[in-house]
Amino acid sequence: MKGLSLKGINKTFGKVHAVRDVSKDIHSGEFFTLLGPSGCGKTTLLRMIAGLELQDSGRIILDGEDITGLPAIKRHINTVFQNYALFPHLNIFDNVAFGLRSRKVPGAEVNQRVKDTLEMLELGEMTKRFPHQLSGGQSQRVALARALVNEPKVLLLDEPMSALDAKLRAQVQIELRRLQQKLGQTFILVTHDQDEALIVSDRIAVMKDGQIIQYGTPAEVYDFPKNRFVAEFLGSANLIDGNYKDGLFHTAIGIFELEKPPAWEKGVIAIRPEWIRISDTKPLKNGLRATVTEIIYRGTNLDISLVPGPVRLRTSTYSRIKIGDELWLDLAPKEIAVLNE
Ligand code: ATP
Repeated sequence: MKGLSLKGINKTFGKVHAVRDVSKDIHSGEFFTLLGPSGCGKTTLLRMIAGLELQDSGRIILDGEDITGLPAIKRHINTVFQNYALFPHLNIFDNVAFGLRSRKVPGAEVNQRVKDTLEMLELGEMTKRFPHQLSGGQSQRVALARALVNEPKVLLLDEPMSALDAKLRAQVQIELRRLQQKLGQTFILVTHDQDEALIVSDRIAVMKDGQIIQYGTPAEVYDFPKNRFVAEFLGSANLIDGNYKDGLFHTAIGIFELEKPPAWEKGVIAIRPEWIRISDTKPLKNGLRATVTEIIYRGTNLDISLVPGPVRLRTSTYSRIKIGDELWLDLAPKEIAVLNE
C-alpha cells in the first residue's frame, strides 16, 4: 500500500498506557487528523511516527517499507512543531536551507529548492529576516517551509496553529488545507480543536485514553458519532436516554420515531442543536412542545435552551423568539443519530 500503516502500536510511560494497540492505514495524499483531549496520547503517537519516541511494540510501514527501526533522519518524515523550533540566529533562508545543507545537498540545488518553497508559501520577500522579526502566522509558514523543502513523504503537524489568535488561526487552517491539496502530500495533524479537525481533514481519528475510538470523514464522525464521548467532543449534542419498544423510542420528554430500529432496547440518541427546526405548527412526526428558558446571542445565530429537556437548539431565525415562548420543535427522524455504544 502507498501510505503509512500503523500496526498494533503500544507505548507506556511507567504506569501510563499512553498509546494502546493503535492500528490504522493512512493513505498517501490524505490529510489525516488525530483529534482528542489533552493526555489522550496523540502527541506520543505522532512522535513515534516521526521516530522521536520508541514504541514498546508494533510496526510502522511507509510505502511498503518497514521503518520501525529507522532513526528519525532516515524516515522521509518531517515535523512542524507547536513552537515552530526555528533557529533564532539564522535568517529565514538559512533556517529553511538548514536541513538540505546538513544532508550535503549541492549548493545550487539548495538555493533553488529553498527559493521555490519560500515563494510557494509567499515568504519570498522575507528571506533575509530573522525569526524575531516575523509575525506568528509568518513564523508558522517558515516552519512549514522548513519541513516541506525536504520533500517528505509524510508531514507531521503537532498543534501548529495553537499559538495563533482565533482569527489568524481560522485563516491559516484554510491555507493549510489548500496547500495540502495542491501538494497532494500526506499530512498528519495533531489537534484538540474539533473545528480545526473538521475544516482541514480528509479523515479524522478521534482518540481517547490512548485508543482510536472512531474514525472517518469529518461528516461521518460529526453526523454519526458512535458514542457519547464523540458526540460531545465534536460539537455539542442533545443526548437523550430512552427505551426502544414497539417501534418507538420512549424518553422522559416524549416518544420519538427513529429512521431505523436501533440495535439495542435501551440506549441513547444524539441530536445536534442546529438539526432541530422550529415549526409554527405541530410537525407530523416527532413534534415536541417546549418552552424557551435561555437565549444566548451569537451574532449570526442564537443558542436557545428549552424545557422539557433541557434541549438546546441553534437557529438563525431568532428575531421573534423570547424567554417564556412556547414553540414546536421538529425532531425529524432523519436528524436523530442513534449511538451504538
Ligand atoms: P496534549 O494535547 O496535552 O499534548 P496528548 O494527547 O498529546 O496531550 P500525550 O502527550 O501523548 O497526550 O500524553 C499521553 C499520556 O502519556 C499522558 O498521560 C502523559 O502524561 C503521558 N506522557 C507523555 N510523555 C511522557 C513522558 N515522556 N514521560 C511520562 N509520561 C508521559
